Amino acid sequence: MSGQDVDEAAAELGKRIARARRPCALTGAGISEESGVPVFRGPGGMWRERRPEDLATPEAFRRDPLEVWQWYDWRRGLIASACPNAGHRALAALEASNPAFTLITQNVDGLHRRAGSRRVLEVHGSLWRVRCTACRREADDERVPLPLPPACGACGGLLRPAVVWFGEMLSPTVFGAAWEAVKSCDLLLSIGTSGVVEPAASLVRVAAERGTSILEINPRPSALSSIAERVFPYKAADLLDRLKPAP
Ligand code: NAD
Ligand code: ZN
Repeated sequence: MSGQDVDEAAAELGKRIARARRPCALTGAGISEESGVPVFRGPGGMWRERRPEDLATPEAFRRDPLEVWQWYDWRRGLIASACPNAGHRALAALEASNPAFTLITQNVDGLHRRAGSRRVLEVHGSLWRVRCTACRREADDERVPLPLPPACGACGGLLRPAVVWFGEMLSPTVFGAAWEAVKSCDLLLSIGTSGVVEPAASLVRVAAERGTSILEINPRPSALSSIAERVFPYKAADLLDRLKPAP
């Protein structure tokens, strides 16, 4: 890798993407870092000296729903004032130019959709949806700030964020679609993920086991770097912004 500058790396990446018939991308918190959204594992990941792993759990919500909601309300406020970056936009452009492209994200921030991606598999749900803990109804909710703790408009029950917490099952429909996509893709971009959250990380492993090329974009080594055919050690927006649209 030494000696290759970011423009050369982008040219190489662009060629690989253009050659793929069914490319797929899995994104993590790192792609939103340049939009100012803190990652969990890295600087700025803590909130009021609490670790995300201690707040994003069903136990934390049972113990103190108000504290968990205060954290989500803070994140929603931060993301509402953030904008999608060049990395999100490049993936939206890739979707527009190749109908066989599949975007899978672990992010719950909604920035891929705001950048124009339409077919996004949000395997961990979305911060912008809420689910009633009593009647289970789900709805979009983009209020910032929220009245805390928020109540269900239908039954008055306590709402929770419609995200997947540590220890919870992923939606079989959404994760099943992601699994099918990685099994049938011929190139997988792993972008801005530490690769330590399961089962999302296994999406990359299953593709690698099938012999699919994994290209990683991450300025720091991740748990998936060793199975990547190629690691591009750049910030996602920096590199993806330099991709030229397919001729
Ligand atoms: P993570 O916080 O565990 O890891 C972030 C990764 O991004 C690290 O490997 C880091 O080196 C890399 N990174 C940092 N800046 C980058 C940049 N500019 N370009 C490319 N890579 C960069 O994140 P994860 O792997 O997505 O897993 C954490 C879990 O946290 C996921 O379940 C996700 O749902 C959730 N999460 C989501 C958001 C969000 O929606 N924006 C933010 C934080 C955490
Ligand atoms: Zn309800």
